[in-house]
Amino acid sequence: MQGEFALIARYFTRPVRRAALGVGDDCALLELAAGQQLAISTDTLNAGVHFFADADPTSLGHKALAVNLSDLAACGATPLAFTLALTLPGVDDAWLTAFSQGLWALAEQHAMDLIGGDTTRGPLAINITVLGSVANGQALLRSGAAVGDDVWVSGTLGDARLALGLLRQEWPPSVRLTQEQQRLTLERLHRPTPRLALGQALHGVASSVIDLSDGLLGDLTHVLVASQLAATLDVAQLPASAMLQAVPQELRQQCQLSGGDDYELLFSCPPAQRHRLAALSQQLQLPLTRIGTMTAWQPDRPRINLTGQVSAGAASWQSFAHF
Ligand code: ADP
Ligand code: MG
Repeated sequence: MQGEFALIARYFTRPVRRAALGVGDDCALLELAAGQQLAISTDTLNAGVHFFADADPTSLGHKALAVNLSDLAACGATPLAFTLALTLPGVDDAWLTAFSQGLWALAEQHAMDLIGGDTTRGPLAINITVLGSVANGQALLRSGAAVGDDVWVSGTLGDARLALGLLRQEWPPSVRLTQEQQRLTLERLHRPTPRLALGQALHGVASSVIDLSDGLLGDLTHVLVASQLAATLDVAQLPASAMLQAVPQELRQQCQLSGGDDYELLFSCPPAQRHRLAALSQQLQLPLTRIGTMTAWQPDRPRINLTGQVSAGAASWQSFAHF
């Protein structure tokens, strides 16, 4: 697009620290340390689908990178670099300034280089590919869970879904949040924190890991299919923020079980690791909650069994988690 090179130079070029060559040539170059594998993941955010077109651009810059970093976290990888493919309806300097600030702030926090990308004209869309490193054969996968393993989750569940409902004004009057609670809830949707330190600490501890982007039931099902297992979840144990605790039970469970955009880690561990996880939770200042158990799967039986005080709505959703 017109002015493409000035735009790239102004907003998306900074000296690289980890890469051998960054923005400006036909390819970027990246060297890996001996014994390391490259972990690669890509995600696109489309205006009108993944965010509102008038969303705050600083938060958008943060989130576009954060959702990709969450995938690296789920593999236990260490971030190295990323590429950025931007589709823009036009050149809006105020928007680009704010967007790039949000993006760089998170990139700097993880000492990542922006090493290249593409800039085109069209409806607003942001595609990022992240590159990370992980010791040969040590990446954490979805497929390693075993019968009897505990199911764990980091942080709290359902806040992003609660925030989406606030923005869409879809909650009944019984959902009452203070101004401060609303602010914190929206922050969870707009500025998710990728759990990189946790992912890296789960090497040798977790038997399977996934990050929660589409909702607990759906993402757990991915792990169960990959590991050829079923699971029992105790809904009474699902962690809820102070905000979500103020919400009626049925809505709360809906947000926790099927709300997307949480970007917490869901992982399985043998019960022998419980002490270690308690210590890790302290060390990282991050709640880690045991929410269920891996069980044997039988064909034609549901993948996920819910126990505890399951609301009527929640009970009906588990029948979807079949395949
Ligand atoms: P080519 O036509 O060879 O693919 P481009 O003209 O698209 O190269 O881009 C020129 C340089 O700028 C390349 O190094 C490319 O990786 C980089 N680049 C393009 N768009 C972006 C962007 N949005 N962010 C970072 N780097 C970019
Ligand atoms: Mg190009």
